[in-house]
Amino acid sequence: MKIIVSIKQVPDTSGKVSVNPDGTLDRASMQTITNPDDMNALEAALKIKDATGCKVIVVTMGPAPAAGMLREALAMGADEAYLASGREFGGSDTYATSQILAAAINTIGVEKDDIVMCGRQAIDGDTAQVGPQIAEKLHLPQVTYAADIQKDGDTITVRRMLEDGYMTIKVKTPCLITCIKELNTPRYMSVSGVFEAYSKPMTTFDYEALKDDPLIDKTTIGLKGSPTNIFKSFTPPQKGAGIMLEGNDRATCDKLASILLEKHII
Ligand SMILES: Cc1cc2nc3c(=O)[nH]c(=O)nc-3n(C[C@H](O)[C@H](O)[C@H](O)COP(=O)(O)OP(=O)(O)OC[C@H]3O[C@@H](n4cnc5c(N)ncnc54)[C@H](O)[C@@H]3O)c2cc1C
Repeated sequence: MKIIVSIKQVPDTSGKVSVNPDGTLDRASMQTITNPDDMNALEAALKIKDATGCKVIVVTMGPAPAAGMLREALAMGADEAYLASGREFGGSDTYATSQILAAAINTIGVEKDDIVMCGRQAIDGDTAQVGPQIAEKLHLPQVTYAADIQKDGDTITVRRMLEDGYMTIKVKTPCLITCIKELNTPRYMSVSGVFEAYSKPMTTFDYEALKDDPLIDKTTIGLKGSPTNIFKSFTPPQKGAGIMLEGNDRATCDKLASILLEKHII
């Protein structure tokens, strides 16, 4: 049994965020991190590994420096890493990204007992589309928004978080699960883990390595294979300061009502 976790390198938006004059993120000036939800997916996989001894594989699509993020995942306890990287993959939208990741996962191989895990959403693209798209392309049943995962043989019980409650779903392996931050607290890398990470296998999949997969041809990947294009991107104007009304008397209430009326809110 193995668990394949799809993790994405994203800009660290907790620091200073710089925007280029054309409205795109100035990624070069920003630190990168592993997408937070993906850390929860990885932790969930490592917990199952702790309990069952299964293998944990991490996979990403991105430029060469994403190998550093994969190495950190190996230091946390993953066993193998795969980097899908190549000029042909650049400019991919979510459809093309999931096409490439699904082909990479297909090439690694999904067997009966296996689980594929993703984060729910990446903090940069923010679409939450890639996990479900990978599941569709690999013909796997999927459970999204996992806040708890229990494994009993080939049955996985997932508690999904909804806006107003929870839903419990049982699914058989092989399946794909997208994970949210409520699932767990990701572990830190250990010192020995960092040393071991450098002797664990990391494979790069370029276009040549994936091109025989039925999901891959030049019309389904990269900028040309992306059915969506960014038409315009901009920074929304800062909201002005709000109006503070103090007092709990009739006059204050009248003033509040007249402001809301003026703005056509009531
Ligand atoms: C309309 C549109 C056009 C775009 N055009 C471009 C472009 O021209 N050039 C460009 O560089 N980007 C472009 N992007 C961004 C790019 O498509 C996304 O970064 C990528 O598809 C992932 O989507 P997301 O960030 O919304 O991930 P989500 O769907 O929010 O991610 C969900 C989960 O999927 C997995 N995942 C997502 N991406 C990866 C990855 N790369 N590797 C491993 N796992 C992953 C992770 O587990 C993640 O938690 C575009 C996006 C959109 C919406």
